[in-house]
Amino acid sequence: MADEKGLILLIEDESQMRRFLRVILQGHGYKVTEAVTGEAGLNEAAVRNPDVILLDLGLPDIDGLIVTQRLREWSKTPIIVISAREQEMDKVKALDAGADDYLTKPFGAGELLARIRVAMRHKTLDNAGQSVFSVDNLKVDLGKRQVLLGGKEVHLTPIEYKLLAVLIQNAGKVVTHKQLLKEAWGAPYEQQTQYLRVYMTQLRHKLEADPARPRFLINEPGVGYRFRIGSQLEDGED
Ligand code: CA
Repeated sequence: MADEKGLILLIEDESQMRRFLRVILQGHGYKVTEAVTGEAGLNEAAVRNPDVILLDLGLPDIDGLIVTQRLREWSKTPIIVISAREQEMDKVKALDAGADDYLTKPFGAGELLARIRVAMRHKTLDNAGQSVFSVDNLKVDLGKRQVLLGGKEVHLTPIEYKLLAVLIQNAGKVVTHKQLLKEAWGAPYEQQTQYLRVYMTQLRHKLEADPARPRFLINEPGVGYRFRIGSQLEDGED
């Protein structure tokens, strides 16, 4: 069934890449609008009010990082950046500037659609203001600051809890090292990625059945961490 699912704005200068994205998205019931430069993309975002923006980082006029910064001055529309391998640093900067997630070229249709579903879900959740999160045997009540695993309360340190809460509020999306450090320890600690490694290991030991093969708390090397959910979980199963 190709029911209408929402409008996606593609900001991408490569015509082959646009065609690839358009075919997949339209085939899955999304409406698509396109822009080939950053300026045109900003204009299109303002005029069409898309549900999700797919943004290439390497554009001919202004780069994707600037587009992200300018969009975030007035828009909360989810932004998924599309980057090439050599744009690793730009990708992290775009995420820190307010992009929601990323795809690294080349990527498949499944990955693209999963990222878009998560972005759409967050758009709905932001409006709903939901405070109890549950996935599998894990339940987190953000209002009560309570974490239950298989119905039993798990005691987390304040920092462990803060990290988990930030990841859950962004469930399915990547959260950068800088964002996690800033939330849990404060801005002066933004560079202390070794703190994160220690605390994420502790969290995995408390929440994961097999901490060496985590189901929920996924490392995104060089970028940050992601709390894996829904279809992402199925992908990770044997
Ligand atoms: Ca490009």
